[in-house]
Amino acid sequence: MRSYTKSIALYERTRKHLAGGVSSNVRYASTPVPLFFARGEGARLYDVDGNVHIDYVLGNGPAILGHAPKSVIEAVAASLADGQVFAAQHPRETELSERLCRLLPGAEVVRFATSGTEAVLMAMRLARAFTGRDKILKFEGHYHGRSDQSYISARPPLNEAGPAEAPVPVAGSPGMPASVLDDTVVCGWNDLDLLRQALERHKGEIAGVIMEPMMVNGGAAAPEPGYLEGARELCRQNGALFICDEVITGFRIGLRGAQARFGVTADLAIYAKAVAAGFPLAMVAGRRDVMDTLFDKGVMHGGTYNGNVQSMAAALAALDVLEAEDGAVYRAMDACGTRLMQGLAALGRKHGVAMQVQGAPAIFQTHFTAGRPPRNYRDAVACDRDRALAFHRGLQEEGIRVNQQAKWFLSTAHDEAIVDETLAAADRVLAKLAKH
Ligand code: PMP
Repeated sequence: MRSYTKSIALYERTRKHLAGGVSSNVRYASTPVPLFFARGEGARLYDVDGNVHIDYVLGNGPAILGHAPKSVIEAVAASLADGQVFAAQHPRETELSERLCRLLPGAEVVRFATSGTEAVLMAMRLARAFTGRDKILKFEGHYHGRSDQSYISARPPLNEAGPAEAPVPVAGSPGMPASVLDDTVVCGWNDLDLLRQALERHKGEIAGVIMEPMMVNGGAAAPEPGYLEGARELCRQNGALFICDEVITGFRIGLRGAQARFGVTADLAIYAKAVAAGFPLAMVAGRRDVMDTLFDKGVMHGGTYNGNVQSMAAALAALDVLEAEDGAVYRAMDACGTRLMQGLAALGRKHGVAMQVQGAPAIFQTHFTAGRPPRNYRDAVACDRDRALAFHRGLQEEGIRVNQQAKWFLSTAHDEAIVDETLAAADRVLAKLAKH
């Protein structure tokens, strides 16, 4: 057994003055306690007890270049003496916005924010202001941040969620006013008929349809062929904006994100996480006429840290790596991730463990089910979560860190040797799982 004595002691001390001992509720779930890490480098994390972890959590997505990527931290370090926040513009914003608009599908203009949650709020406000409508349609199992307006039916208990054909919006947290549910329509994902019916039921009411273009949070499910194009068209027909939340998929499943990968262009898209390789940066990118409402209709968007010098410097340096040779690092990551996905699937078969590996090479999930891989939230809920947790725990003992749902993020620092080390560990863990 690995020892976590120092993490346990630090957790006991920390929780006396830091609420719950963590700065984000999702960090509670770690066992035996929320772990404390001393540092990260490349694909590895080093905890305070001296355990080494090959990290497939990567901060839940941002560390696309691994931990402490040299060129990014050098660029940020060089920027520190220039200052941090000016409540004014600076040339790095100009350069970054130009580069992003050259790169991203549908990005005529961008506006920077600091976290994904805030950028989602901006996109929803823009959609409402632009269309003059109040309701946002979102999909069950899709996560768009923790705000009152968006943390709805992200992981609803099925006994509260109503029928699959017309789910009932479920507030994700105590403290959310019930009134937010009035302006939210929830729909099952990956089914154009359901979307058509929902838009029909709320004709003329929907300002925007927001989705993770690949449902990462709810199960790493890709859109069915034709689904995104169909949804895009239904939005057009119904006068609703099509909003892609690329907070995870952006700069991860490809240099130009899910829209390029699946061949669809949103009216507005939200990016965060990987774009600044670990530094806090989010943005909305999209149609000029919609984004122009920020100044010609006075749609409010602000934020003290928006466009701060270090986040801009980080993103520029990250883009230098990500954009080189039109995304060569993504081709390498895809090869590595494919090897890992195929290797894990083969190990599942070898040990007779009913496990489905699905997603994209740079972000996938191992689902424990004898059925088909989940294509929407309700399918994902039907998978064996206890087994996923047991897999996560077994892997942790082997020095492999995946999240509690057994979701795997890859970085450019994960190479073939690391993948092979991971597969050897997974072989041992699955052998044990097969026995229980
Ligand atoms: N949208 C998606 C798709 C996300 O995965 C997340 C974060 N996991 C968010 C929005 C919220 O981003 P943040 O945590 O930066 O507020």
